[in-house]
Order: sequence, then C-alpha cells, then structure tokens
Amino acid sequence: MPIDSSLPYDDQNIFARILRGEIPCNKVFEDEWSLAFHDIRPQAPVHVLVIPKGAYVGWDDFTNTANDAELAGFTRAVGLVARELGLSSGYRLMVNMGHDGHQEVPHLHVHIFGGRQFRLMIAD
Ligand code: 5GP
Repeated sequence: MPIDSSLPYDDQNIFARILRGEIPCNKVFEDEWSLAFHDIRPQAPVHVLVIPKGAYVGWDDFTNTANDAELAGFTRAVGLVARELGLSSGYRLMVNMGHDGHQEVPHLHVHIFGGRQFRLMIAD
C-alpha cells in the first residue's frame, strides 16, 4: 500500500529498524550519512537501496529540510555505491515519492537498478 507522505516520520518503519540494527540487511555501503543494502525483492540483477541516516519520510521533506552536508553526503553516496557495484555501463535510479509515486516504505530511499539494459521509462 502506498504511504501518506503528509504523516510525521514513523520511527518504527522497516528502514528505521534496519538503521538501528534491529532487523538485518545485506549491506553494501555505510558512512556518516547513508546506508546502502540489497533490496529484499530484487526487480533487476542488481537492485540496491540507498537511504539517508536522518529521519526523512521521503524526497519532499529531505530536499526541503535536510542541511547541505546531509544532501551532499547522501547524493555522493548514491554515486559511490553505483561505482562500487561496478555498474560502469550504466544504471537506473528511482525514487518513489508519496501516494501517487507508490512509495511503500516511509523512509526516503533511492533505488539503484543495474545489471541489464532498461527500455521503458514507466511500464505501468
Ligand atoms: P518503495 O515502493 O517504497 O519505493 O520501495 C520499497 C522497497 O523496499 C521495495 O523494493 C521492497 O522490496 C523493499 N523492502 C521492503 N522491506 C524490506 C526489508 O525488510 N529489507 C529490504 N532489504 N528491502 C525491503
């Protein structure tokens, strides 16, 4: 079910619990600003999620309220993770935002898809 992104941050959401180490993840990268791990239901040969460590519901509140260091640290982490995954021939980034974007987990995450060539921009 898509989330209602106008609700306040829920610190019991699944990615908050992964950040606190309460639930395991298959980690690929971590630094001061970000954590990256493999998606539990991959939709491409490579499907990794990058999340900021701050408590942001989605792209809207992150870009509106995060400070410059958080914004830069997170953005750089997405590029770094893609490079470390060896996706030198390209990849696709996706952020689902709120109800109409069909966001399901209410903690900002960037999807990195790779390992094959993508065609359609939006299938559904
Ligand atoms: P959204 O639709 O919110 O953009 O994407 C949420 C993503 O989180 C989905 O691709 C889903 O497979 C992934 N996901 C949901 N729960 C877990 C979990 O517990 N662990 C991991 N690694 N991924 C999860």
